[in-house]
Amino acid sequence: MSLSEIQSQIAKAEAEAGRPAGSVRLIAVSKMQPDEVVEDVLKQGHRVFGENRVQEAAGKWPRFRESYDGIELHIIGPLQTNKARQAMELAQAIHSLDRPKLATTIARLAQEMGQCPQLFIQVNTGEEPQKAGVLPAETDAFVADCRALDLPVAGLMCIPPVEEEATLHFALLARIAERNGLDGLSMGMSGDFDRAIRQGATHVRVGSAIFGARDGH
Ligand SMILES: *Cc1c(COP(=O)(O)O)cnc(C)c1O
Repeated sequence: MSLSEIQSQIAKAEAEAGRPAGSVRLIAVSKMQPDEVVEDVLKQGHRVFGENRVQEAAGKWPRFRESYDGIELHIIGPLQTNKARQAMELAQAIHSLDRPKLATTIARLAQEMGQCPQLFIQVNTGEEPQKAGVLPAETDAFVADCRALDLPVAGLMCIPPVEEEATLHFALLARIAERNGLDGLSMGMSGDFDRAIRQGATHVRVGSAIFGARDGH
């Protein structure tokens, strides 16, 4: 597919869900993609991108920023505390705030730097042992802790288990966000962004459907 096809599918899903046009932000996930295909999407005017590794993002985006204005970068993958500073320097949003130690580190750095990206708390809605994220039952307390640290919590993020119906997980995330007074919902990827939009996604993270399969996959 192409960027414009994804954009029109998003517009269609917004309309079907009775949501205002433009209420969903498309994060083009450019991880592991060759520079030419990323640049092609930049040339089409898209400016919102996601990377799951800080290292890779640092090797790619400062360069693109020299040629293109207004790039908005989202870190969507697991974040080590020792990479937090670099992530905060590079990105306008971090979608993988998933533990107290990372929260206190980001809070300390935000004080020091006088700035902080928008933060999404990752929730392990499927309670999968191998997956990052706070458990649903622990999310309310973690949101409160992050707010007590003055962190700019924009919303919640999830990655549903591959073998389960994603809609159930999107609905669960939406419920947890609502009861915590959070507007942002980062959910939906190439295979299920339309379903995520129906459940209220404000940010969809779409990679392979825009760029094609990644190297090594
Ligand atoms: C890679 C990735 C995506 C995009 O996945 P696609 O299936 O290629 O759309 C979305 N979210 C996260 C956290 C990812 O790591």
